Amino acid sequence: MINPFSKLGISDDVVNAVKELGFENPTPIQEQSIPVLLEGSNDFVGLAQTGTGKTAAFGLPLLELIDFKSNKPQALILCPTRELCLQIANDIKNFSKNTQNAHVVAVYGGANIMQQLREIRNGVQIVVATPGRMLDIIGRKAIDFTNVKYVVLDEADEMLNMGFQEDINDILSTTPDDKKTWLFSATMPPEVRRIAKNYMENPVELTMGTKNTGNVNIEHEYYIVKARDKYAALKRIVDYNPDIFAVVFCKTKMDTQDVAEHLIKDGYNADALHGDLSQQQRDKVMQRFRDRNMQLLIATDVAARGIDVNNVTHVINYALPDEIESYTHRSGRTGRAGKTGVSICIINAKETGKIRQIERIIGKQFTKAELPTGFDVCEKQLFGLIHRVHNVEVNEEQIDKYMSRINDEFADLSKEDVIKKFASLEFNRFLEYYQNAPDLNLSADDRFERGERGDRRERGERGERGGRGAEAGYSRLFINVGSVDEFTRGDLLSFVCNNGKISGKAVGKIDLKGVFSFVEVESAVAETLLANFKDVQYNGREVRIEKSGEAPVGRGGERRSGGGYRGGNGGERRSGGYGGGERRGDRRGGERSGSGRRGERSGGGSEGGFRDFSGRSREERSAGSGRREGGERSRRRS
Ligand code: AMP
Repeated sequence: MINPFSKLGISDDVVNAVKELGFENPTPIQEQSIPVLLEGSNDFVGLAQTGTGKTAAFGLPLLELIDFKSNKPQALILCPTRELCLQIANDIKNFSKNTQNAHVVAVYGGANIMQQLREIRNGVQIVVATPGRMLDIIGRKAIDFTNVKYVVLDEADEMLNMGFQEDINDILSTTPDDKKTWLFSATMPPEVRRIAKNYMENPVELTMGTKNTGNVNIEHEYYIVKARDKYAALKRIVDYNPDIFAVVFCKTKMDTQDVAEHLIKDGYNADALHGDLSQQQRDKVMQRFRDRNMQLLIATDVAARGIDVNNVTHVINYALPDEIESYTHRSGRTGRAGKTGVSICIINAKETGKIRQIERIIGKQFTKAELPTGFDVCEKQLFGLIHRVHNVEVNEEQIDKYMSRINDEFADLSKEDVIKKFASLEFNRFLEYYQNAPDLNLSADDRFERGERGDRRERGERGERGGRGAEAGYSRLFINVGSVDEFTRGDLLSFVCNNGKISGKAVGKIDLKGVFSFVEVESAVAETLLANFKDVQYNGREVRIEKSGEAPVGRGGERRSGGGYRGGNGGERRSGGYGGGERRGDRRGGERSGSGRRGERSGGGSEGGFRDFSGRSREERSAGSGRREGGERSRRRS
């Protein structure tokens, strides 16, 4: 079978090299551009995201077009950052490992110029450079570009954003007029268009996806929270995604440092990347991230330029970028090399307009997502743990010698108890942490109170505030309990699910009012819920639930005697979980507890989330458990 790269016109030496890198099939951008660029006779504009395989898209044709018998520079690749420069040079070195006498040099600031000059003097055919250092070397008359046949401008939009226009002009003026220019850009603002117009003749244009479009592999989501809840929201997202490997974008160096420090103190594997770090520090941070020894990289836009790390699962916009165009670059850090990724924005209600602007630019719609409840997080973590336990590789030889002692230790426990205890070991920490976790989603009421009416789409989909329309596929139910009963939305969710015997996943919007509330549930389970929801009392009061705007269900004045409130789980209280948690441990939760930072708000408080319906008073419960997510808030304020 002919190798697909050979079919595109790539020679055996190079095909073998990319095969070793694991490239089996060309990516779409490679498939389209390689045949065009191999002709060597066209200027070229490629609109493509980072991570789509564009280095090979231009690198492989270059290797075919260059005369490696000569040691003169024939290709110049300009890119915005040192990281990208190193990456491209490295990639091309890998592609050319079987190519006789191929020499590639990386020319970038912040490194010893003498070494770079030496390499140039020794003879190179391909120069990969950042503009500043390149100009420096040109200024020293240390390089001769008269034989340059190809100039690649990679991430052209970023180079212009970073103010390299003049430098690029100066550099290009030292190259021959008849060279071919290949420009790659993720977006096509007017300035990039201008370059294309000024420097190119009838360029072949290829667009991967629509213009300025974000990568198709990336899902875009936004969460609306109060400004002061941003950090808690970030943590909730991270906890809900135990395998997250993410870049978190902040606006300023200080924010970056601040968020990273808080995360580290809270036991997360995070670090900051910003311009105040020395090059050496930045390299160290990046290396840890590349090696996946760090889960969360907190970065500014500038510092994150050129971060090309594969398998980033999420990009989190802790703050939206000032320049809307930057969003494309940020989100492009995930969904690379055919992988899928999620780009998340944590915003306040006033920023929904900006989301609409971004949607227009990237030509994709965002999903307005709801932050998981504490219960959701606990469930996710529990099953993550179960999955890990199930799949862990057992080192039979090593564990064998301990087995009899382990068995002795467990002799008094049934298999079921042992499983329960293993599962609880880590689960308890999350339960403990999240038991009183507030609902962080900004409700329609919150927005209304602040005079912010939410965006039109949201209102359209979910109905006006207080209106009757449920989201498509959902039924809106009225229930005669609300905030005067000290219910939070989390409480109400558990209450409805436990008594109606439905899964929390079937519940949509919860509108908590004073003496009553509205709950949207999937229409498919509404009848089940109504049928199950019988004889429920709360504080001696009969709890009614009925379809909103319809005749009451399960009413009729029959006041059932006895009973009382049955408890959150239809009678069987969750045992052992809330409050009495295991606090040792080696992972995140344990470290967090260890940091002593979560118990700060052990007193009553009025904003709890999950309630244990044990009949204990709120104060008693708080005193007993002593931990709540609110702790982090007070910490942030202090
Ligand atoms: P780039 O956009 O050039 O930075 O490439 C993104 C990632 O995709 C890099 O890690 C490349 O090694 C990888 N890659 C590029 N082309 C291919 C291919 N044809 N098959 C598999 N991986 C690729």
